[in-house]
Amino acid sequence: MEKRDYYEVLGVSKSASSDEIKSAFRKLAKKYHPDVSKEPDAAEKFKEAQEAYAVLSDENKRKQYDQFGHAAFSNGADGSSGFDFSGFDFSDIFDGLFGDGFGFSNFGSFGGRGGSRARKGRDSLIRVNLTFDEAINGCKKTINIDTMDTCNECSGKGGFDEATCSTCHGSGTVTSEQRTIFGSFMTKTTCPNCEGKGKTYKKVCSKCHGKGKVKINKDIEVKVPAGIDTGNQLRVAGKGEAGINGGPNGDIYLEFKVEQHPIFIRDDIDIYLKLPITITDAVLGCKKDIPTLNGSVKLTIPAGTKSGEKHRLKGKGINNVNGFGKGDMYVVIDVITPTKLSRDQKKLFESLAKTDLENEEEFKKYKKYAK
Ligand SMILES: [Zn+2]
Ligand SMILES: [Zn+2]
Repeated sequence: MEKRDYYEVLGVSKSASSDEIKSAFRKLAKKYHPDVSKEPDAAEKFKEAQEAYAVLSDENKRKQYDQFGHAAFSNGADGSSGFDFSGFDFSDIFDGLFGDGFGFSNFGSFGGRGGSRARKGRDSLIRVNLTFDEAINGCKKTINIDTMDTCNECSGKGGFDEATCSTCHGSGTVTSEQRTIFGSFMTKTTCPNCEGKGKTYKKVCSKCHGKGKVKINKDIEVKVPAGIDTGNQLRVAGKGEAGINGGPNGDIYLEFKVEQHPIFIRDDIDIYLKLPITITDAVLGCKKDIPTLNGSVKLTIPAGTKSGEKHRLKGKGINNVNGFGKGDMYVVIDVITPTKLSRDQKKLFESLAKTDLENEEEFKKYKKYAK
């Protein structure tokens, strides 16, 4: 089945606010939740909505999706596509949705087997500053991050001397009857004794205090491709927080901010350079050495050049970050009116002023109306 657009799934516009997204999802959750819905394909629809919401409610993931579509979350290696939302916390959405105290079976996770199921670790977003040159040419960066790693003392278990939980007998869930406005249901909720693990420990790990994870600080090496621009993101797979119950690590997303260059102005893959020239160079024409991103080139400026005229230097722009093509450079003429004249220069301008410089078309057109 063709994957539907996430905005279409939730029935919101591309510019929808987070509140609109939240309320659209709540409506769909109410309609399609498999515990209450009578619709034939409710489970499918609910899952689709959950996935769309998990992405669009996360500023960072939404940005990824807007930029790359579903491809942003395709894993490639195992052929699966689509965003894995198994670690996503839907509790604030479901709270109060069906009345207080209503617990869902398979809460937030389909095909799950209680709390002992392997889950991917959390993703994190890190902002990285780059100099103009690093962004243009690409670079290797060492980035220092704080993250959660599996506790090596207890191998992520959280304790020692394992025993089956006596409350849930190892299932991680307890079944209870719930009365709601829709009638009464048998629902499964996470076991309060073992918090879903299905196991308890006689001795809690003192290093991680039972969490199974510890805070660490580590360096990661990243290769930044040439052509990165402010706002671009790079996914570093598997370097985020440690997974839960042996699940894979989360990912790290790097978001870049590129420093401005003193004279080169960047517009996507093109470079603009404002070239100051004197009034005499503009009138008489000249040859100039123009600095580019790699070496300088000679540019002939014809006699009678005006401010704002553009000269294109083909292929002298920036590499496309995706590896396809290269931008151009534009030299924009800026005729500088002299303000610090010597006595001699002033005299020359005064004698020039006595000649007729107002015989250009622009003056003639203007004079017709300026009586
Ligand atoms: Zn239990
Ligand atoms: Zn531990």
